[in-house]
Amino acid sequence: MDFLKVLDETAERVKNTVKPLLKSPIAGKTYGIGAGGDAKKHIDLEAEKTIVSTLRRKGLEFTLISEETGIRRCGNRPSYYVTTDPIDGTTNLLRGIPFACSSIAISTTAHVGSVEAGVVVDLFHSVTYLAQRNRGAFRNSERIEPAQIDNLDDAVVGVDINSCDTSPRLAQLLGQIKHVRHLGANALELCYVADGTADGFIDVRGKLRTTDIAAAILIIEESNAIITDSRGVPLSRPLSPTTTIDFIAAGNRPLHQKILTALGTDQTHVDSH
Ligand SMILES: [Mg+2]
Repeated sequence: MDFLKVLDETAERVKNTVKPLLKSPIAGKTYGIGAGGDAKKHIDLEAEKTIVSTLRRKGLEFTLISEETGIRRCGNRPSYYVTTDPIDGTTNLLRGIPFACSSIAISTTAHVGSVEAGVVVDLFHSVTYLAQRNRGAFRNSERIEPAQIDNLDDAVVGVDINSCDTSPRLAQLLGQIKHVRHLGANALELCYVADGTADGFIDVRGKLRTTDIAAAILIIEESNAIITDSRGVPLSRPLSPTTTIDFIAAGNRPLHQKILTALGTDQTHVDSH
C-alpha cells in the first residue's frame, strides 16, 4: 500500500469535512470528555469519522489510537496502528485563528519509533506535510529541510506555555530567546521546524500526549531536524491518548544544544546519542 498517497487523500477529505463546519454553530458542541482528557467537540468527532472511514475504504485494517475516542479496532485483522489527533488547535479553529491541523500516523507497533508514515495537514491553508520512514519529508510534494540558524538571538523558537508551571529552567531559556512564539497547534508547529519556517519548538510541560505529535515526529526526523526529550535523550514512548511526552526540536544540532544548555540540562550522559 502506498501510505503517502493514502494519507494525502485522507488529509484532503478531513479538510473538506471541516470546511463547512467552520461557520456552523454546532462545530463546538461538546460530547463529554475525550480519551486524551479534553472535551470532545462535534468538529473533532466528524474529523475522526472521516479519517476512519477513508482509511477503511482504502482497505487498511488497523487499531485506532485517537485523542478523541481512545483505542479501538477498525477492521477484522488489524495489521497496523493508526494514531491520530483529528484536530489539533480546535480552539484556534473555532475562533477563526488560522492555525490548526489534522494529524495521522501509521505504525507497525504502538510506539513512536515504529511510525512508518505520517501526515499533518494545515486546515486553513493549502499546505500538507507528509513523511515516510527513510524516504524523506515533504511539503506539498517538495522535499523539505530545516533552517541552519544556530543561535538564540536570531532563532524563532516556539514554546508551549499553556497551563505551564514556569520552572526556573524554563524562565532561564525564555530570557535568552529573542523571538518566542506559541501558535496553538503543536503538530503544525513541529512541521514549521521541519521546513525551516521556524528554528525550534519545545514543550517541556510533560502534558502533551503522544497522539498529538506521532506524525510530526517522523516529519521532523525525515527532514533531518533534531528532536529529543527535554533531557536530550532520543524519544521513546508508547503511542496512547494518555501517554505524555516532552520534547525539544531544533533545525540543527548546535541550536538544539544551545536550548538544552539554556535549560540547564547536563549533556555529559547523553552525548553519545
Ligand atoms: Mg484534538
